[in-house]
Amino acid sequence: MSVTSGVLHEEPSIFERGAPGRRGVAVPDAGAAAPAIPERLLRRSAPLLPEVSELETVRHFTRLSRMNYGVDVGLYPLGSCTMKYNPRACEDAAAMAGFADLHPYAPASASQGALEVMWELERALVEISGMSAVTLLPAAGAHGELAGLKVIRKALSARGDARKKVLIPDTAHGTNPASVALNGWQAVEVKSNADGILDPSAVAAAMADDVAGIMITNPNTLGLFEGRIFEVSQVVHAKGGLVYGDGANLNAILGKYRPACLGIDVIQFNLHKTFSTPHGGGGPGSGPVGVAHDLVRFLPVPRVVRGPDGMLSLSDAFPDSIGRVRSFAGQFLVMVRALAYIRGLGPEGLARVAERAVLNANYVRARLAGRLHLPYPGPCMHEAVFSDKVQGKAGVTTMDMAKRLMDKGFHPPTVYFPLIVHGAIMIEPTETEDKQSIDEFVAAMEAIVEEAATAPDGLHAAPSLTPVSRPDEVEAARRPVLAWKPGS
Ligand SMILES: *Cc1c(COP(=O)(O)O)cnc(C)c1O
Repeated sequence: MSVTSGVLHEEPSIFERGAPGRRGVAVPDAGAAAPAIPERLLRRSAPLLPEVSELETVRHFTRLSRMNYGVDVGLYPLGSCTMKYNPRACEDAAAMAGFADLHPYAPASASQGALEVMWELERALVEISGMSAVTLLPAAGAHGELAGLKVIRKALSARGDARKKVLIPDTAHGTNPASVALNGWQAVEVKSNADGILDPSAVAAAMADDVAGIMITNPNTLGLFEGRIFEVSQVVHAKGGLVYGDGANLNAILGKYRPACLGIDVIQFNLHKTFSTPHGGGGPGSGPVGVAHDLVRFLPVPRVVRGPDGMLSLSDAFPDSIGRVRSFAGQFLVMVRALAYIRGLGPEGLARVAERAVLNANYVRARLAGRLHLPYPGPCMHEAVFSDKVQGKAGVTTMDMAKRLMDKGFHPPTVYFPLIVHGAIMIEPTETEDKQSIDEFVAAMEAIVEEAATAPDGLHAAPSLTPVSRPDEVEAARRPVLAWKPGS
């Protein structure tokens, strides 16, 4: 119950509620003899289950749900994660019985509608990105990165090239170097310039004969558009390398430009950020990968193909493919939501997504610029990165301010990321927020900045209105306690 242990209000587990013999419902005796169960299958001791009434159960889980925070509760400005509102209509589409109840082993003849969804979604993503073909198989953004890197590795080895290094800007998302390592390669950091973007000369200096290519997050994790990306692509291509574009932040550029036009050879899309599947909670996600013409034959299998009779099927008949990256055909219901979203908005609607995402972030940037330090001034894309440099003089950290935001009813922004900004505060309001909700968020931030200037010490104990205050985050990550056990 103390602030130091991190727990302000302990919710008893369902096991600690109730009393022996208490039941939810009374089932009438059917009057029939119980079927005989073989002796060896019988339990030796009674299972340890909570003995609770129906009302206690409903209240317990409703209370737990109210301790949670989600997009349905309020603004969720977690930069780089695009925690935006996802239209209910897309959920309805994914819940349709013909999609939701389809068995993964159903033959193609009985799944033409589902295959049509995949076929159309692939073509929609091709249209949006300008790539030549798309696979929908990877199950997340990072999984798409790995599949894309495997495609690059196969393409290089097909021409007898054994390059093993990949350039990664210091503004890249953390999954990029991790994917390079998982692919058995080595990540080489390239520093961004004083404006926070990549300089072609820095890339040229690092672009040796053993470098397979570069991975570029665009917009980068400073929320900045890589304005010289086309020149960077030319430098990399001239040295025989390939350009991987991390497309997780596509909501900033949808309908505005096609990544392929800037020299991107491989890109992943995060359907669970940009295209109407909620992000977070461990999934399910989907990270389709688009590739340029010369790389199409290396895409993973199975691929959706249309026969001469117009019928669709899943085909493994691609001898140069990197092979399978996932069971069955991928996260199908995420694909249904994505297609419903893309079709629902249409080309003009998708372009407005990008306009609104960028406008909202720049509004936050402009409103808070005088109060929080802005390490890279100038317009941003879909997120604005601040730091605690000003408040730090009074001993107030990014963590203090983020925690106080919870007392004000908001989810904190992404903190201490990107790493190149000391005490970073990365705010992505997302395109689905209106001015009113952003104004409320800005007012909360302004009040916190004011508190930092007038009564800084109080902030170290924030939050004080939430069920949990400041848990030991390292311990929580290293030794997570995910289930209650009797006696724990
Ligand atoms: C979220 C994100 C990823 C990783 O996507 P996951 O689905 O979480 O694996 C990669 N790059 C960027 C820029 C991201 O924002």
